[in-house]
Amino acid sequence: MRQAKKRIRFIRSIHLRMFLLLMLVGVIPLYIVSTIMVYSSSQNQIQTRMAELQYQSVALISELEERDYMSNMSQPVVTAEIEQLARFFRGRIILVDSNYRICKDTYYMGEGKYNISEEVITCFAGTNTSRYDAEGEYLELTLPINNGQEEIVGVFVITASTETIRAVEEQLQYQGMVALIIAVMLIAAVSLFLSARLVRPFKKVVRAIDESSQDSVGSDIQVDDCVETQRIAQAYNRTLARLRTLDESRQQFVSNVSHELKTPITSIRVLADSLIDQENVPVELYREFMTDISAEIDRESQIIEDLLTLVRMDKANTELNISQVNINDMMEAILKRLRPLAMKRNVELVLESFRPVLADADEVKLSLAVTNLVENAIKYNVDNGWVRVSLNADHQFFYIKVADSGIGIPEADWDHIFERFYRVDKARSRATGGTGLGLAITKSIISLHHGAIRVHSVEGEGTTFTVRIPRTYRKQEVDL
Ligand code: ADP
Repeated sequence: MRQAKKRIRFIRSIHLRMFLLLMLVGVIPLYIVSTIMVYSSSQNQIQTRMAELQYQSVALISELEERDYMSNMSQPVVTAEIEQLARFFRGRIILVDSNYRICKDTYYMGEGKYNISEEVITCFAGTNTSRYDAEGEYLELTLPINNGQEEIVGVFVITASTETIRAVEEQLQYQGMVALIIAVMLIAAVSLFLSARLVRPFKKVVRAIDESSQDSVGSDIQVDDCVETQRIAQAYNRTLARLRTLDESRQQFVSNVSHELKTPITSIRVLADSLIDQENVPVELYREFMTDISAEIDRESQIIEDLLTLVRMDKANTELNISQVNINDMMEAILKRLRPLAMKRNVELVLESFRPVLADADEVKLSLAVTNLVENAIKYNVDNGWVRVSLNADHQFFYIKVADSGIGIPEADWDHIFERFYRVDKARSRATGGTGLGLAITKSIISLHHGAIRVHSVEGEGTTFTVRIPRTYRKQEVDL
């Protein structure tokens, strides 16, 4: 099992791929060159043999012509020369007369028979022919024999064996193969060495990451062997930095949660203890303390509820229940619900709808996000103030603006108010029943809708939150 895993790992490794690449780059050209060399060498030899054949044949033919051999063949010396030449080329010589009859054959097999082959006919017409038969391993040459009046009286057909050329070619092929095998072994050794060297920096990166991950917070790594490893190290360090920030914020969150949850419980304990410690407590005081205890319990459950909402929203694969929502109707419903709260402080609450807006959204979640904004606008307002909510849209986005005439937010806090448990004025937030999670929930919901939220405020004058959300929801869309 382990062996098999190791083998699979090796097959998929860069090491093996580099090795094979180097081998291919080294061996293929070598193989091509050696094949071309063997081929061109045998071609050369054939050409040389043909030239030699031609040269010797022409010399013999001129003697045949001189001695008028075609008319008188009883010339033993010339006949011997013909046979000698045929033997020399390990071939056969045939003389064909003008009637296409074979009048001389060094194999003594064809004499008296006719030879009306294409080559002989072509030659009688005045054109020499020569050809190489690779399968039969012979060269054939036809040359005309003239008489004194420049008439063609016969054709000289000579064939020469190329067996020796084939033998040399085979010998060459064998030597080439041996040289190739030696070269392949050498290249393999060099490739093995080079590929091992090339992957060494990557092994270093793995080792550095392994060592770094033994540290609980992880330590930055540096592998400067080549640009690629430098980049991997930088990317790793960046990821590590992000994880550290995430870890810090998680720790911060946990400590904030414990603190927030403890506060109401501490109050309840103080109130309860003071009732227990006193004797003969008047009923009115009991009632008053119990009312306070009840308020603290409400607060505790509000914090837990908000936390649960936030946790649900934070899950990476939070599913939105998307449908076509009439945003105008949704806004009207939200304002109707919050009107009693506004009236308590005589805050004027107005909705301006510039156009009908239909958009893809999770109505329940988006309602919660907008409710938080309007509720804050009322909570952090002044008595007799105003809150103006407006809805507008273009072909791509819809925009919700919540403006108030409230206490405002100092510029230094603009970036922080969306953090969990962050409050500009803790006392005021507590007094109004805030948990410090409202804006964090709002921002999460808007992000899930691939939207954006911005704040602008002037201290003592008021605050405006602007929300922008795409009208069509696309699952893979990058957050804006
Ligand atoms: P909270 O429950 O305290 O209201 P939020 O997350 O809703 O928590 O808001 C965070 C902080 O931002 C608030 O404590 C408050 O200080 C500030 N804030 C939010 N909205 C407004 C606003 N409209 N005007 C002034 N301050 C605001």
